[in-house]
Amino acid sequence: MRIHILPTGRKDLDHADRTLLNPVPQELLSQYLSTSDMQAIANVYQTADVPTWGWVPGDKNTPDWSDLQPGDIAIFVIPSNDQTVVTKVEYKVRSASLATRLWSTDRATGKTWELIFFVKILGALTLSKRELLRHLQYTNEKDNLQGHRDVTPRFAGIYGSIDNFLSINTNIQIPLSTVKEDVGESLLTESFPNRMSREERLRRLEEALNRQGQTPDEYVEVNGRRFKRSQIVVAFVKERDEYKCKACGWTLTERNGKKYIEAAHIVARAPTSGGVAGPDTPENMVALCPNCHKKLDKGGEKARNEVLEALRKNGVNV
Ligand SMILES: [Zn+2]
Repeated sequence: MRIHILPTGRKDLDHADRTLLNPVPQELLSQYLSTSDMQAIANVYQTADVPTWGWVPGDKNTPDWSDLQPGDIAIFVIPSNDQTVVTKVEYKVRSASLATRLWSTDRATGKTWELIFFVKILGALTLSKRELLRHLQYTNEKDNLQGHRDVTPRFAGIYGSIDNFLSINTNIQIPLSTVKEDVGESLLTESFPNRMSREERLRRLEEALNRQGQTPDEYVEVNGRRFKRSQIVVAFVKERDEYKCKACGWTLTERNGKKYIEAAHIVARAPTSGGVAGPDTPENMVALCPNCHKKLDKGGEKARNEVLEALRKNGVNV
């Protein structure tokens, strides 16, 4: 599987509107394509309309189109509104008559976009345009992307693998069957990368928490991966409290640039002396520094009350 970036030029703008974002009915395609082509298309799309794209033949486009394979990922970047559309290539067909019907001919060259391919829309990039340009080694963030290109080696180099790139930087939902259950803190961080804004991370974490019930038991799915519900709660609480101790204000930025904080249960999860167990919910949790956390969990009456009093002062409901 390869990844291609396809900036859509000004000329292509209405192509994106007409045949990608507004897919083409199979009935129209069938007027120009063979029965076997239509059979193949029906196998993929059933009766649904078909998102369609095409290139004009040329020294670069013709060999590139030959290299394009079903299963490849094609990421369209639509400059008018910086929209990105992540798609999977499903089928190719060369047809000047269909291209002329869909997009007419280019006035300047008299050519048409006959190197056609059909895609399925999977989702969008969550990577910012600025970040995308940086990945592609553009130096000026006001630059516009030029020309389609195969970015497989480049993105695999940055992310370790293409799958990593897709799971980190798109909102594509991967089937649960492909998901590993055994996940740790690093994988969770990877699913909510730091370059995402705080608001965006909070929104996604909250959304994941609200997804309770869609997966069995205590598991929640994020970016196609399964996390224990409690892991999501912990991540949400740290983010909500801005990685700052809610009792004393302590913060720590680690050598690697990440912020360190702990998520503590206000009413302990496993009470030592016969009390009622506190739940794993954002309401029962708060960000604390290691010191205040230990005071609250292990301290005597006086130490515990100091922390609780400080939390109350800072508006935490305890
Ligand atoms: Zn503290």
